Amino acid sequence: MSGHFPDPSVPMRTLTLLGATGSIGRSTLEVVALHPERYRVFALSAHRNVKLLAQQCARFQARYAVVSHWQEADQLQQLLRQQAPASTTEVLVGAEALCTVAAHAQVDVVMAAIVGAAGLPSTLAAAQAGKRILLANKEALVMSGALMMHTVHQHGATLLPVDSEHNAVFQSLPPAPGQLCSKGVARIILTASGGPFLHSPLSSLAQVTPQQACKHPNWSMGQKISVDSATMMNKGLELIEACWLFDARPEQVDILIHPQSIIHSLVSYVDGSVIAQLGNPDMRTPIAHALAWPERIEAGVAPLDLAAVASLQFQRLDMDRFPAVRLAIQAMTRGGTSPAILNAANEMAVEAFLQGRLRFDQIALLNERVLAQLPPTSADSLQQILAADALARQEAAVQMARMKAA
Ligand code: NAD
Ligand code: MG
Repeated sequence: MSGHFPDPSVPMRTLTLLGATGSIGRSTLEVVALHPERYRVFALSAHRNVKLLAQQCARFQARYAVVSHWQEADQLQQLLRQQAPASTTEVLVGAEALCTVAAHAQVDVVMAAIVGAAGLPSTLAAAQAGKRILLANKEALVMSGALMMHTVHQHGATLLPVDSEHNAVFQSLPPAPGQLCSKGVARIILTASGGPFLHSPLSSLAQVTPQQACKHPNWSMGQKISVDSATMMNKGLELIEACWLFDARPEQVDILIHPQSIIHSLVSYVDGSVIAQLGNPDMRTPIAHALAWPERIEAGVAPLDLAAVASLQFQRLDMDRFPAVRLAIQAMTRGGTSPAILNAANEMAVEAFLQGRLRFDQIALLNERVLAQLPPTSADSLQQILAADALARQEAAVQMARMKAA
């Protein structure tokens, strides 16, 4: 077939990529670059990295670029004028603009790859506009679970998990809608590498540096999720994410340590069958899966060579080593704003740890204290959720000051 004429049987999809300069954002553009006949970039966003954003806008001919502040907008405009004088990219600023490009009538697909609570309003806006949402930003779903799922259903949006574990579960479940028990599912099993400190003596965790915490054995990721993987709060957030995505209760979700990160997760059925999804630890696989679903497209990922991997290992999760998972179960069981409170405390704790203001082993302690201090309230609207997020950040600051004084 000639490469010069578009194939009419392949629909062209228009894409907004929120968090384009991050680890997931860059991987997404690598997959998109392999399929120019399928995907057109509509909008790209970044927080501060305008240098990379300018290159991305020029290369993918984005119609809009969104940054968080005016200063970066001016820099971006200048860079575009210098590096891509023919560029027609329009630069927009602020959280409202993220919602605008996520909900725009010309957009089919929204990749939600902003890190943390900052990604919630735009992800929700994409749901309200009935888009296909590729969800990497797990914090958005953890914070807004019931509201996000309700909005997705009400507006006919499609929510596809990019998180490798949830993408694996999605691939291992039967396609029919309905409750887990009606599909014969006994349990969902999320795998976890265990992060860089799986075997470190517990007494050594107080001295862990940000650099050590961000050195994940299998995945190369942004700083926040790398620290979350080291504390295993990432797995806690993922447990909550799985409950919402697959309509599961926390007791239906198991966590299994699997240091090689080859099996990305499993579904166990009542007849004893277990179905899993395997692959090299490379986020381009779940990204390509969610982009093309229900089709399959090339992701640029090396084929899995199981003989070279040779052995796969498994072990049970030790909740004393990783109290974050217990906290996440507690927050999910309490319901309401509790997951948003835990998420906000954790974002504050991770930021303080990365800036050298909090010890690694104090992250879980801070999260526990904030969660214990603030009772859940109802989480039916974005305003209620953002208010709980703000309150939890205030409480985290108070608790951090107390820890420092002690
Ligand atoms: P990252 O730090 O590499 O990138 C984050 C992106 O968000 C950047 O483009 C940044 O400019 C933007 N951003 C940051 N703060 C912002 C703000 N306040 N307002 C607007 N934009 C902002 O992070 P990442 O590793 O790409 O992760 C992104 C999301 O995907 C996270 O929620 C993470 O948990 C999830 N995720 C990542 C991976 C991975 O392999 N990296 C895997 C699974 C899930
Ligand atoms: Mg994951």
